[in-house]
Amino acid sequence: MANGWETVIGLEIHAQLATRSKIFSGSATAYGAPPNAQANLVDLGYPGTLPVLNREAVLMAVRFGLAIGATIAPRSVFARKNYFYPDLPKGYQISQYELPVVARGAVEILLEDGSRKTVGVTRAHLEEDAGKSLHEGLGRMSGIDLNRAGTPLLEIVSEPDMRSAREAVAYMKKIHTLVRYLEICDGNMQEGSFRCDANVSVRRAGAQEYGTRCEIKNLNSFRFVERAINHEVERQVELIEGGGKVVQETRLYDPDRDETRPMRSKEEANDYRYFPDPDLLPLEIDAAFVAELRAGLPELPDAKAARFAREHGLSEYDAGVLTASRELAAYYEEVAAGAGEPKLAANWVMGELSGFLNRDGLEIGVAPVGAAALAGLLKRIVDGTISGKLAKDVFEAMWSERKDADAVIAERGLRQITDTGAIEQAIRDVMAANPGQLADYRAGKDKLFGFFVGQVMKATAGKANPAQVNELLKKLLAGP
Ligand code: ADP
Ligand code: MG
Repeated sequence: MANGWETVIGLEIHAQLATRSKIFSGSATAYGAPPNAQANLVDLGYPGTLPVLNREAVLMAVRFGLAIGATIAPRSVFARKNYFYPDLPKGYQISQYELPVVARGAVEILLEDGSRKTVGVTRAHLEEDAGKSLHEGLGRMSGIDLNRAGTPLLEIVSEPDMRSAREAVAYMKKIHTLVRYLEICDGNMQEGSFRCDANVSVRRAGAQEYGTRCEIKNLNSFRFVERAINHEVERQVELIEGGGKVVQETRLYDPDRDETRPMRSKEEANDYRYFPDPDLLPLEIDAAFVAELRAGLPELPDAKAARFAREHGLSEYDAGVLTASRELAAYYEEVAAGAGEPKLAANWVMGELSGFLNRDGLEIGVAPVGAAALAGLLKRIVDGTISGKLAKDVFEAMWSERKDADAVIAERGLRQITDTGAIEQAIRDVMAANPGQLADYRAGKDKLFGFFVGQVMKATAGKANPAQVNELLKKLLAGP
């Protein structure tokens, strides 16, 4: 890092597990219901009710653990984390503390310089989410919505292995990709299904000990993670260089003002008075169950990227981009197979297709040009019906009019001119119309060749086959 400081970052990622019901009750977890429509007596913390563990949530946690090469605890324990907050009516959150279900895994991230780095995952544990306080539209009052109370979360805690905001984002993206491959979390960051707390400290380059960290809470976009960390690093360095000391605390990132500010001083674990929840049995997972889940894992992103690089001759970077989601990877494979040209397919999926999806804010699943349609377009480039340049116009028309490539090409008369006679005629017309340039070219002004190419393409509305234009032009310009 610049000016003699090194940044140290560890992330605590909260992934909301995609179960239909809550972790300890039968209430639905669907997003967007009217306040408190999905909160039953267990979620409300009524005395005398008992939690019942959701098997599906456990299964999802184990699948995640296996995907990161972690140890699955044969026996893990739910604990009560005690604190008061209006959106936590029980007065405690059920979490896992000393014995989490998943421990000691790792993921690999690809850095911008092409190198790889392993980030350790300390643990991943199951816990329930709390409710929400509502302030808008309620005058001077606040409301409590307990729909989210009891929603299953997997908290994924990393080692303090990251050394820049970029690395932290790369790691978070990797976990985001993984949970979606595993179909254990929908990854929707706007709805809060995937968010993180970033622990940030700085130390002098070469120092052995870590500096004091601050924890920035509830970051729900990759951009915010990067900005919040960079700001926090700057703040800490300035503070220390000015003779001050970082105090361990929880801070909030304000995207509008683009700064972090203190929220509360950091609680210590003993403030929470964790103890095993007497209402829940320890969670026991046998080896046969783990083996069964391991056998059911899908092809994971790293393996898929390696296969793409190997089978389709793609660069590691491109293979990584194309495997960022299962849907994108499946789309790409269909285009590559249909067009028979894996590299051309990669360029189009990462170029035009991604560009249009971005522009229109669409997910690949609802792309107006499906994989088969894009493959159809690429085939017309490969067989010489249209040039690569015209194909972009065809793609745009396919996108906005939802037609296939052949229909657009026929309708607009875009078929490439490969008829030698027609191209020759166009060249002769251009030569006749530009006698001055022709004389100069023949007198040795080679640079004018490009001028003639441009004129011929213009005369044919871009439809002449470029290779043929080049070849014929050379011949005809040279002399009668
Ligand atoms: P807590 O539960 O109190 O937040 P943990 O010990 O579980 O604390 O650590 C939380 C996160 O903070 C982990 O991701 C860890 O890697 C990270 N972390 C710990 N020490 C530091 C440090 N000095 N600088 C940056 N991150 C750190
Ligand atoms: Mg924490």
